[in-house]
Amino acid sequence: MKDGYIDFANSNVGAKLVNALGLPKPMPLERYQAGQPVVKGTVLVGGGGEPQMLEALAGVFQRIGVQTLAHERLPQWVAVANKAGLTTGRWGNNGQPGEKVKALVFDATGLTDSTQSDALYWFFHDAARSLLPCGRVVVLGRPPEACTSPRQATIQRGLEGLTRSLGKELKKGSNAQLVYVAEGAESQVESTLRFLLSPRSAYVSAQVIRIGAPVGDNVAPANWDQPLAGKKVLVTGASRGIGAAIAECMARDGAHVIALDVPQAQEGLNEVAKQIGGTALALDIGSPEAPQKLVDAAKADGGWDVVVHNAGITRDKTIANMKEHLWQLVMNVNLSTQERINEALVESGALKTGGRIVCVSSISGVAGNMGQTNYAVSKAGVVGMVQASAPIFAEKGITINAVAPGFIETAMTAAIPFAIREAGRRMNSMSQGGQPIDVAEAIGWFASPASAGITGNVIRVCGQSLIGA
Ligand code: NAD
Repeated sequence: MKDGYIDFANSNVGAKLVNALGLPKPMPLERYQAGQPVVKGTVLVGGGGEPQMLEALAGVFQRIGVQTLAHERLPQWVAVANKAGLTTGRWGNNGQPGEKVKALVFDATGLTDSTQSDALYWFFHDAARSLLPCGRVVVLGRPPEACTSPRQATIQRGLEGLTRSLGKELKKGSNAQLVYVAEGAESQVESTLRFLLSPRSAYVSAQVIRIGAPVGDNVAPANWDQPLAGKKVLVTGASRGIGAAIAECMARDGAHVIALDVPQAQEGLNEVAKQIGGTALALDIGSPEAPQKLVDAAKADGGWDVVVHNAGITRDKTIANMKEHLWQLVMNVNLSTQERINEALVESGALKTGGRIVCVSSISGVAGNMGQTNYAVSKAGVVGMVQASAPIFAEKGITINAVAPGFIETAMTAAIPFAIREAGRRMNSMSQGGQPIDVAEAIGWFASPASAGITGNVIRVCGQSLIGA
């Protein structure tokens, strides 16, 4: 459904009214178009810790082909960048800002004590106003749980407060994320940086991502515009809404998609599959025989590389008014069936080594929601499943992660009464709902063969929704 308020708030008359009344002013978000550069502008780099992180960053920027600038408090970046073959220069002079930039990347891995926090202040104080619209902020830190001293863990945990606040302050479609990189996992950051710095992450903000040692091999795609080339990807609930966008996005990124939905949705399913050159598979995943049918289909197809559990249902009622069968139905489709399918596909080897499982949770599962006890249990359960399964599936070289969408413009949210729909749309740092493609892009990042260092993560695609913040 189109959000007419975005156009109005950005028109001549609308902008004046919106400013005068102090109403939210959503910025039309830049979204990724196939073949466009990862970053449309310069990246300003600051901070700096151990050389491994800066060297890894320089390598990524060199491969991305982006120009970088060194904040005046990080002069050593010029040497590191030049060594990697990057065009680079100095930014700022005695606290006076330099040119406008598209992204700010701050290496905070070197912070070991709260008394060093003014390094954050100086960089972001100087640079915040120099970020172009739809800009990107990425802060790199060390996971507090793995820090060697309480003081290091303290300041590293503090970085969450910084990025979450920046996400709220930046406005104009910009976002900010924190990436905790485990020591020794610096070489795993490329797929994450490419996602976070590009318009693919348009509706992801204030998220905390953890990157660790690779699960299986980290395979850099031959062509980063087609990271899923040669991969077979199952997408459930693919006949419409977010699932159709996921199927299209995976196909755009080079995958052969097996698009699954219930037999009643066969017509829409066939259309999606035809449009993307994929395969339609009509199956009710809630049926007892579904896991074995999927194992058989995958084996007959030579094995699958990625499974995206998108199919989900709501049957809303307050708990006092809810019938038992509605509780059971939601729990089965949204959660239990995914557990059974994962176990069957992983144990049988039908999901190949190096495979990826990506689940779809919801901010209802993070924050709870009135009238959605069944749905919230199922979606919070997805988070539990992802976190508990990650170390077990890692033994088979398989990662498992989840996205938790906020308000996404779909037929489901179009049916919500006007006042509640408007609240859902505006109560986030982007002052607008997300598009199905925003969820799909985040799933594509998890699904990439280069995302071997990411498992057990749950990332919200919610524009930094105030609900459940
Ligand atoms: P949707 O209702 O438009 O699509 C869901 C699809 O899943 C449908 O095509 C449906 O036929 C299919 N499906 C349902 N039960 C199935 C079964 N037993 N077997 C096979 N397929 C089945 O919903 P959507 O808005 O596109 O949501 C997709 C996912 O995103 C869901 O898991 C939903 O909970 C989640 N989500 C959506 C939003 C949002 O704002 N739209 C927010 C948070 C989470």
